Amino acid sequence: PPYPVRLSGPVIKGFGRGSKDLGIPTANIPADDLSEKHPELTTGVYYGVVALDPKTYQHETSEGSTSTAVVLPAVLSIGYNPFYKNTVRSVEIHIMPALTEPSPTAAGQEGQTKFNRLPDFYKTKLNLLILGYIRPEFDYVSLEALVEDIRVDCEVARESLLREAYKCYLVDSGKMSGK
Ligand code: ADP
Ligand code: MG
Repeated sequence: PPYPVRLSGPVIKGFGRGSKDLGIPTANIPADDLSEKHPELTTGVYYGVVALDPKTYQHETSEGSTSTAVVLPAVLSIGYNPFYKNTVRSVEIHIMPALTEPSPTAAGQEGQTKFNRLPDFYKTKLNLLILGYIRPEFDYVSLEALVEDIRVDCEVARESLLREAYKCYLVDSGKMSGK
């Protein structure tokens, strides 16, 4: 489909598995009218950017905290999570640290991956720009195999978003709110 694709909605409760089972929190937004509004979005894993409301996320800079929306890289899945055999489609977004921060998911010597964790922001409005497709959804033989693929997805997303052409999306210039 022609990217960017803009999705937005309130952050809703999911199945609660993201953090509990996987150690990977995913902000869920409603997916009800997705096939109607975005028939081009096939199930799979995508990358993009998310703008978080400054009230939600106090973003620290060298000058202290700012009140401008912060735009962060994200990986998301649209679909049924075959590993969990969901019957309804969901949109689940994992928000990563800014690209200027070290990647917590880069393969380290220790072998232990930490996924980014922010203070909870349920019910707030999330603005997402989908910028590209990574892969289809797969089923997995184990939770570990699933987590490893998500770790790789995070790295693919970060590498992609470092491309020059995406620079304009990583600063908030009203693109996210549709202004
Ligand atoms: P749920 O099944 O309700 O979506 P999760 O275990 O997936 O529960 O956790 C998601 C929630 O965690 C989000 O709604 C958000 O409030 C919070 N959260 C914390 N850090 C992140 C992050 N890096 N990316 C997305 N959501 C996060
Ligand atoms: Mg979730």
